[in-house]
Amino acid sequence: MSSTAATKAGNPEADFSVSGLGNPQEELGKLLSGQYPDARGRYGPFGGRFVPETLMGAITRLEEVAKAAFVDPAFAAELRDQQRVWIGRPTPMMRAEGLSKEWGVDLWLKREELAHTGAHKINNALGQALLAKRLGVKRIIAETGAGQHGVATAAACARVGFPCRVYMGAQDVERQAPNVQRMKRLGAEVVPVTSGDQTLRAAIDEALRHWVSDPMGTHYLLGSAVGPHPFPWLVRTFQSVIGTEARAQMLQQAGRLPDAVFAAVGGGSNAIGFFHGFLGDSQVQILGVEAGGTSDEPGMHSATMAHGRPGVLHGCYSMLLQDEAGQVADTHSISAGLDYPGVGPEHAFLHAIGRVKYVRATDAQTLEAVNACCRHEGILPALEPSHALAAVRNWAKANPGKTALVNLCGRGDKDMPILMKHAPMA
Ligand SMILES: *Cc1c(COP(=O)(O)O)cnc(C)c1O
Repeated sequence: MSSTAATKAGNPEADFSVSGLGNPQEELGKLLSGQYPDARGRYGPFGGRFVPETLMGAITRLEEVAKAAFVDPAFAAELRDQQRVWIGRPTPMMRAEGLSKEWGVDLWLKREELAHTGAHKINNALGQALLAKRLGVKRIIAETGAGQHGVATAAACARVGFPCRVYMGAQDVERQAPNVQRMKRLGAEVVPVTSGDQTLRAAIDEALRHWVSDPMGTHYLLGSAVGPHPFPWLVRTFQSVIGTEARAQMLQQAGRLPDAVFAAVGGGSNAIGFFHGFLGDSQVQILGVEAGGTSDEPGMHSATMAHGRPGVLHGCYSMLLQDEAGQVADTHSISAGLDYPGVGPEHAFLHAIGRVKYVRATDAQTLEAVNACCRHEGILPALEPSHALAAVRNWAKANPGKTALVNLCGRGDKDMPILMKHAPMA
């Protein structure tokens, strides 16, 4: 759970290489049939739980309570009802008429930005808050980077009825004043973290530290498909509503499955939930889009699959951006949601077996895609899914006329200060 990367001496579990994988078809079969994550929380060599002994009780209980909830019709009914009346599910799907014409493809958008609080993060926050009632804990803690997950968690805690504390890097508290105000207004306590890099990485470390101090009274509501098992699986399960809806809507509205699906990958929660709808459809190409930033130089991007190596971060063995010495590397992206040096272990697995292809979009391509979506669709998309739109545009050149589906995972209102700085309108 330290943010120093692994292959640490004295931790034999960290000494994995990607070589632990068999035939890709068989490996995918294990995932689709539920054999992965296995008893140790692994997807092939990836995943696991690299946490202090003091947390093992809490995370084992979390897994057991979650497993029981997922087969309990009463939990499914409560979740479905709250998704409908509070989040606004199902979110719509629409054909992007203007962008299709402009880019020469048949483009569809899953309108996840219409979910309550403006992005997919609420699916996970609501699900885990409902689960916390079954855990019998007294309070919820969370980490946040730019504040989006903090706002979703504060809202879910207000709705479900939990006191909420959000750890946030001191630098981010400065930079994200409106989101700090939103969290406080929703009743959350916001704790600035002054250790480490004073951003998301330090906030996760701090939240894990406080969870260790009261593992049975507190639930740690982790915000992406990362961290120790069972979190990557838990978060994916709550986000898979996106892919389930999208596949059915595609069949109903377009009368067919798409040739390719695209989603932005930060920690990987919106992408993994969306992709799960299509993993078993071998004719559907799946593309995860990472932040290419300003260049391929270290520190200028957040493209973990393109430039990373396996290592341990935040309790989990996955792909990781690190320097020669194994220290976690600095990252950059124009979009705060993609600015993370790690990625969820299930993505590392899907990358290793080749079922999902990971591509990049640069800051500049992303800004062009924001403007194109505004002009042609009347939708201001967040910078994160605009990476996915930019990747569709790149893909379209070699795939004219084909059908693409993008998870438009967030709305861009939160990004106005960045847009005004980098691409002001006269
Ligand atoms: C937080 C966020 C992301 C990145 O998180 P994932 O876990 O990779 O989905 C992407 N898009 C939006 C709109 C976000 O708010």
